[in-house]
Amino acid sequence: IIELSGVRKTYLAGQLAVDALRGIDLRVDVGDYIAVMGPSGSGKSTLMHILGCLDVPTSGVYLLSGENVGALGEARLAQIRNRRIGFVFQQFNLLASMTALRNVELPLVYAGVGREDRRARAAAALESVGLGNRLDHRPGELSGGQQQRVSVARALVTEPSLLLADEPTGNLDSASTDDILSLFDDLHRQGRTIVVITHEHDVAARAARTMLIRDGELTAAEVAA
Ligand code: ATP
Ligand code: MG
Repeated sequence: IIELSGVRKTYLAGQLAVDALRGIDLRVDVGDYIAVMGPSGSGKSTLMHILGCLDVPTSGVYLLSGENVGALGEARLAQIRNRRIGFVFQQFNLLASMTALRNVELPLVYAGVGREDRRARAAAALESVGLGNRLDHRPGELSGGQQQRVSVARALVTEPSLLLADEPTGNLDSASTDDILSLFDDLHRQGRTIVVITHEHDVAARAARTMLIRDGELTAAEVAA
């Protein structure tokens, strides 16, 4: 589903050029569950932004389901982001004034899905993450782990082909972390394609394989350690 070859990303901040990614090669097949680990500043979020079509490579090629992302216009990129990729962030990024159900409905609003259908699909997504009894709660009325489960439901409601998570357990206690990781295990078993970015070994260990990123270069992780 994902094929990166020689992907580089250089940020220009005033006179300073920062090479955040220096020639990344990565292949992720449908149904894969991979973790990317690396120290702060190594390029993890930059890689996630590129994989998620939130940004495009400075050079190199990114093929997503065979489509050359670097050659696409913003309208098409937005369409891919909305329909084919589900995002989960460390900070949950839920809208505080909306109920769990409304939050999960939002991507379907953007996709032009009608109201009845939207409600039913959002409720089913919340049900599938174990929150069928929290549809009308607002984020402030939910625990951190529950909020993250709402954001997983929101990520999945459009039936994306790829789930991308950047430090999904960074703000969670160990019990909630276990909940989210079990959820990812289930999704993996259902054949979803998952890329998780994390600096936690326990989180990375749950993936089928782990890659290490260091100074913008990606290598396969050694199994031991
Ligand atoms: P962390 O674990 O702290 O989140 P990270 O691995 O996600 O770190 P990135 O955010 O990808 O790291 O940053 C990689 C490098 O690119 C850093 O040196 C950072 O300063 C630089 N960088 C990131 N975003 C920008 C930007 N928008 N403009 C300029 N430089 C940037
Ligand atoms: Mg980061």
